Amino acid sequence: MARLVMKFGGTSVADLDRIRNVARHVKREVNAGHQVAVVVSAMAGATNQLVAWCREAAPLHDAREYDAVVASGEQVTSGLLALVLEGMGINARSWQGWQLPILTSDAHGAARILDVNGAELVKRFKERGQVAVISGFQGMHKETGRITTLGRGGSDTSAVAIAAAIGAERCDIYTDVDGVYTTDPRVVPRARRLDKIAYEEMLELASLGAKVMQVRSVELGMVQSVRIFVRSSFDDPEGIDPRAEPPGTLICGEEEIVEQQVVTGIAFSKDEAQISIRRVADKPGVAAAIFGPLAEANINVDMIVQNVSSDGATTDLTFTVPAADYQRATDVLTRAKGQIGYDRLDGATDVAKVSVIGVGMRSHAGVAARAFKALAQRNINIRAITTSEIKFSLLIDANYTELAVRTLHSLYDLDKT
Ligand code: ADP
Ligand code: ASP
Ligand code: MG
Repeated sequence: MARLVMKFGGTSVADLDRIRNVARHVKREVNAGHQVAVVVSAMAGATNQLVAWCREAAPLHDAREYDAVVASGEQVTSGLLALVLEGMGINARSWQGWQLPILTSDAHGAARILDVNGAELVKRFKERGQVAVISGFQGMHKETGRITTLGRGGSDTSAVAIAAAIGAERCDIYTDVDGVYTTDPRVVPRARRLDKIAYEEMLELASLGAKVMQVRSVELGMVQSVRIFVRSSFDDPEGIDPRAEPPGTLICGEEEIVEQQVVTGIAFSKDEAQISIRRVADKPGVAAAIFGPLAEANINVDMIVQNVSSDGATTDLTFTVPAADYQRATDVLTRAKGQIGYDRLDGATDVAKVSVIGVGMRSHAGVAARAFKALAQRNINIRAITTSEIKFSLLIDANYTELAVRTLHSLYDLDKT
């Protein structure tokens, strides 16, 4: 007997038929004798609709009320799944974040989980064989008691946090793809499913654009050593032997991965914007004058490139910000023009960041150099570059994203054979 968390994303609970399918997956594990906590997302599209209504009601909405609205999507699916399970003769009960409770910080809209009380769930597993159906994405602020949400894609984080709290053997993330691929399989059909991926690599993939797992869920899994298994909810529920190893990807410690490739995966994001500050004074304190106000405005600056000054007096500085913050960032910099001292601001939102990831890069030199050459052969211009121990990122024109990803995917031997 094992204790399991089974998480189902929006597409997997998109309508009642899909919820019935989810119930059959749950039934299979219950029949195998497992203690099961299920975490569900809102029906596909539901959260987008709720977010849109908030924006329409009040463009500058109170984040507390935004959370009250957007958390409701998950309440519907947890209740419906509990109803369907009961109808199949399985003892099940739904739980909202505040009922366990799942305590969080007060950062409404992007709250952090501080503590999960799983005691009642465990008691009910043991005494009544009851399945817990928990609304993902939501929690409760530890002081005010108000409903919070964990940021888009946050049900993954709910699932991992609950798995840690109840000491689950595994946290199964059921989604609309059957695992983590070398890159988004919807964009690159030649992408290959990975059997295993290290937490650190998954963390980079997720934070650099692969939305298959929310970044915080991977962070939490790494810290709490939760074994996370990404698999498909569209497989025939009864066609799976709960004792056999199903197709999917295990996110685990690096030491568990025997055959380590140099490059594990490629992520990309079109949610970037580039800002170039022309002819800024080349002297101490200028970077502080530029990035200080942006930090105060809570704008995340990512790639930074500073040119060598050609005239000894001024230089150009280029960096990226999230596309959603582009307007705000240029406003902040225009206001600070006097303190910074520059000639002109240039910006572009039609840019994309393509990132190559692999823990093997720690011990292999020249990995990035090969990419520069391959992209040059395709006439793809690189606007900015950043590197770190296990990844490098390139900023390019958004039009070339798919071509660049496919080129690099083949270059590093990631194509499916
Ligand atoms: P859910 O609703 O189940 O949470 P998401 O839409 O959040 O599902 O995440 C699954 C999607 O992530 C897939 O449909 C796929 O297009 C996308 N994705 C992006 N990069 C990858 C990758 N490297 N491997 C697998 N899926 C990926
Ligand atoms: N329903 C939420 C969202 O769409 C959370 C999730 O699906 O994980 O972002
Ligand atoms: Mg998701």
